[in-house]
Amino acid sequence: MLPAVTVLLDLPGIQQLLDVTPRAVVTDAIRAVVEDARGVAHGVPANDAEWTAAIIEAVTVRQQPSLRRLFNATGVVLHTNLGRAPLAAAALQAIQDVASGFCNLEYDIANGVRGSRHSHCSALIAELTGAEDAMVVNNCAAALVLALNSCADGREAIISRGELVEIGGSFRVPDIMAKSGAALIEVGTTNRTHADDYRRALSPRTGAIVTVHRSNFTLEGFVAAVPPRDLAAIAAEGGVPLIHDFGSGLLLDLAPWGLSGEPTASDAIRAGASLVLMSGDKLLGGPQAGIVVGRAEWIGAMRRNPLARAFRVDKLTLAALEATLALYRDPARAVVEIPALAMLTAPVEAIAARAEHLAASLRATGIAASTRAVDATVGGGAFPTARIPSAAVAIEVTDVDTAATRLRGARVPVIGRIADGVLLLDLRGVPSELDAELGALVAGALS
Ligand SMILES: *Cc1c(COP(=O)(O)O)cnc(C)c1O
Repeated sequence: MLPAVTVLLDLPGIQQLLDVTPRAVVTDAIRAVVEDARGVAHGVPANDAEWTAAIIEAVTVRQQPSLRRLFNATGVVLHTNLGRAPLAAAALQAIQDVASGFCNLEYDIANGVRGSRHSHCSALIAELTGAEDAMVVNNCAAALVLALNSCADGREAIISRGELVEIGGSFRVPDIMAKSGAALIEVGTTNRTHADDYRRALSPRTGAIVTVHRSNFTLEGFVAAVPPRDLAAIAAEGGVPLIHDFGSGLLLDLAPWGLSGEPTASDAIRAGASLVLMSGDKLLGGPQAGIVVGRAEWIGAMRRNPLARAFRVDKLTLAALEATLALYRDPARAVVEIPALAMLTAPVEAIAARAEHLAASLRATGIAASTRAVDATVGGGAFPTARIPSAAVAIEVTDVDTAATRLRGARVPVIGRIADGVLLLDLRGVPSELDAELGALVAGALS
């Protein structure tokens, strides 16, 4: 005989729970626990303590937020599925300052009149990239739609067939471009596009030339592409803007840390593009945003476009972005305080030492753990082929899938990766101050 819901509600442990938990949540959890016990031959709670524990567990699961923190031990530092860039402390503080009360989001404090939300990060972005002007929208995909719609609505946009790419879940460049109102004029071939291909496509109907950075793949072998500098010259010949979808938002040269070959935003501006588009939450290390930098004339056209209203950013984003950007005024500080950059540039020796320490602490709890030298990747559409030396804790169990599932089921989920039959926890994407918490979660989940 299973106990009645009212009986379980009266248990002392459950009465205590009711002090801090809405009654509806508790009764719902009790019904579910009783329902689970129905028809089960064994494993039914045997006494009041076990019923109480099962109900508390069910309440905990029900009260978990849908969106929650987790450990990214995948070795992909800027993982789109895992929220891309973590924010700097300064960015979190700015959100707190601005969003816990009122702010001058659209208010001109000096003159006491209505202002523009587009005024907030523009000067700082222009200063950091060398551009004339800048604008911030919701994400880079929105920036591409708005830029194309502002330059080439009802006209033609010329793009190389080698750049009609898919960037990530549900972002295909040709689909996004078609929605902008511009007619796509494809030139060249998948592997080779030449300056003359663009020149021949120019006509009085042309609204823009578009170039998209190959942010998540490389093309090797018999290939040819027209560099942005030459494309800018061709666009100028045709009297149309060059829109450069640049993606990563890299503001600093990371070559001293072994990450070379990707242009910075300043490089893209110097090459002469009229508009350069990038994400805020990739290598820039800030909140989700689409940042547009370039010629004042075209940025002005984008601000006046009615679609700008549909793509506008909120005050939380602007606060976090401005604080993140401000860190770049001192590059040495940016590399330390912007988590994405700190993770990507951390010396491998330090990560290896942390992995040794963590593995030893797991072995002390009886878990078969060792360490491996592994390669991490940047992720987030940048440096697609770069391998960053890293270190992982290797969990050596026969059933790695079950171990991985258990780690995902931890109070704070731990997401690793399986390679060669072992479960790897790459520490490059784990802040060092969280090593102890990670160790406790792994020990709890696997022992
Ligand atoms: C990532 C990326 C995008 C999409 O950026 P979101 O901010 O995710 O919309 C667009 N273009 C390029 C080249 C990218 O790398």
